[in-house]
Amino acid sequence: EVPKAAKQTSRVRVAVRLRPYMVKQDDKGEGACVRGLDSQTLEIINWRNATETLQYQFDAFHDEQATQQEVFLSSVKPILPHILKGQNASVFAYGPTGAGKTHTMLGGPEQPGVIPRAVREVFNLVKAKEKEDNAWDYSISMSYLEIYNEKVLDLLCPSAQDLPIREDKDRNILIPGLTNTPLTSFSDFHTQFLPASLNRTTASTKLNQRSSRSHAVLLIKVVRTQRAVQQRVQTGKLYLVDLAGSEDNRRTGNKGIRLKESGAINLSLFTLSKVVDALSTGGGGSGRVPYRDSKLTRLLQDSLGGSAHSVMITNIAPEYTYYFDTYTALNFAAKSKQV
Ligand code: ADP
Ligand code: MG
Repeated sequence: EVPKAAKQTSRVRVAVRLRPYMVKQDDKGEGACVRGLDSQTLEIINWRNATETLQYQFDAFHDEQATQQEVFLSSVKPILPHILKGQNASVFAYGPTGAGKTHTMLGGPEQPGVIPRAVREVFNLVKAKEKEDNAWDYSISMSYLEIYNEKVLDLLCPSAQDLPIREDKDRNILIPGLTNTPLTSFSDFHTQFLPASLNRTTASTKLNQRSSRSHAVLLIKVVRTQRAVQQRVQTGKLYLVDLAGSEDNRRTGNKGIRLKESGAINLSLFTLSKVVDALSTGGGGSGRVPYRDSKLTRLLQDSLGGSAHSVMITNIAPEYTYYFDTYTALNFAAKSKQV
C-alpha cells in the first residue's frame, strides 16, 4: 500500500542559482561568501576564516550573471515535451527568503521567469504537435494553490480552504473541488494567472510575509485524447512550485502563531527533503518514500520520482548575512543529488 521506490525511479536534477550581490545601506563591505568555479561547481567561504572554503558540485550552477532565459533553457525546457505524452513533471524553487525563488519562478514583466516561459513553451509544443500529426486533440488547463499551515487553499477561488488531497484507483493524485481553468492561449493564461499571483504577493506583505512561509503551486495540465479511439485519454501534469523559505524560523526567533507556521513549513520542507533523499538513494534502503507525511509531498506524489521528471533550482544569496542559510540550503541540495 505504501508506494515503493521502483527501479525506474528517477532522481531529481539539481541546479543552483546565485543571485547578484545587493548592497544594503548598512553594508559593511564584507563582500560575497559564494564564488562560482565553473558551470557545475561553486564554493562558499567561511565567515570566520576566509581561507577555509567548501566546494559543491551540481548538475548545473548558474552564477549571478545567468539570465532568466539561460536558467529556463538549461533546467526546465528539456522536461516539457514529456507533459504532452501523459507524463508528469515538477520544478521547484528552493532556498532562503530573499535568495531569488520568486524572481526565478515568476520574474517580472521585463524578466519573465520559469512560469511564463514554461507555459508559453507548452502552448508552442502543443501547436507543433497538432501540426505534425492530427492523431490527438490537446487541451490545457491550470490550477493554482497555496499550502499554508498544512492546508491547501485555492488561489483561483479564495473561499475554498483546506481542500482534501485524494488518490484515485490508478494512483493519480487529485484535489476534488480545486478550480481547474481551461486555457486557450498564452495570453489567456496571462490574464487568468497574473491577478491571482499579484494577489498573493501583495496580500503577503500585509500578512507578515506569509508568502515566505507558504508554498505556491501552479499546476499546468495537458490532456490529450486520441481521435480514433475517443476513450484513449492521457493526462500530463506540470507542477511549478515556489517553496516556502528554507531559513530556520526557530533560529530567527518566531513566536506564537508564527512559530506554529514555521513548524508546519518545517514539516513540509523537511518531508520534501526526506522524499528527495529517498528517491536519490533508491528508497533509502527501506524502500519507503514518505510522501504521505506532509501535504506538499502527498500532492506531488505522482509527479516527483517514479517516471516523473523533476528539477530543483536551489536559490542562494552571496551576502555574508546569508552564510548559514546558504550552507544549509547547499547541503540539502547536495544530499538531493547523490545517486
Ligand atoms: P525569494 O522569493 O526567494 O524570497 P525574491 O525572488 O523575492 O526572493 O528575490 C529577492 C530580491 O532579489 C528581489 O528584489 C529580486 O528582484 C532580486 N533578485 C533575485 N534574484 C535576482 C537575479 N537573478 N537578478 C536580479 N535580481 C534578483
Ligand atoms: Mg518569494
